[in-house]
Amino acid sequence: MRVLVVEDEPMLSFRLQQVLEAAGFAVDTAHDGEEGWFLGDTEPYDAVVLDLGLPKVDGVTVLNRWRGAGRTMPVLILTARSRWSEKMTGFNAGADDYVTKPFEMEEVVYRLRALIRRSSGHAQPELTCGGVRLDTLGGKVTIDGIPVQLTAHEFRILSYLMHHQGRVVTRTELMEHVHDRHFDSDSNVMEVLIGRIRKKIGGGTIETVRGLGYRIGPPESS
Ligand code: CA
Repeated sequence: MRVLVVEDEPMLSFRLQQVLEAAGFAVDTAHDGEEGWFLGDTEPYDAVVLDLGLPKVDGVTVLNRWRGAGRTMPVLILTARSRWSEKMTGFNAGADDYVTKPFEMEEVVYRLRALIRRSSGHAQPELTCGGVRLDTLGGKVTIDGIPVQLTAHEFRILSYLMHHQGRVVTRTELMEHVHDRHFDSDSNVMEVLIGRIRKKIGGGTIETVRGLGYRIGPPESS
């Protein structure tokens, strides 16, 4: 899963990036509203953390522009005050959730995980496929109850496929959702990573759909 953090306070932005990366997200950062708007408009994020008070273009305007252009990714807003009017303005612009500064970093992690899960159509915090279980809130994977150690990259790939069970995910789509924008990758790397995940969770779980991409679980009926 890949997220965008739009926050102009350097220390806060840095800490959010660190905590979110440690939680298994690929993270891009923007430090003003203009850069944030551009990235959110052109890159396929699974969720966005958006500060409302930003230089150049304010957060509400950024959010209005994204929603006006049909961008539907979940957005968690950061508000400096606990004023209801500010949160309401954020919700009216299309925010999905908020936290009030100062906040616990872990709260942002949990809220983002829940937002991403719900936006991909899953009501329950646990996603399963055969014996593979993904605890979306805790960020843990088990097979038949036994914990599996995955690298951050492996976790992101498996998590993205589990969130989109039954659908063929193209290699390009997968790469866009598991790497940050500075990661230099090619599709061979993806093949290698998929091979490593298969070794850890069993060969049958991730299916290669020749010429198209990868799928977890039986094809969804249309
Ligand atoms: Ca700010």
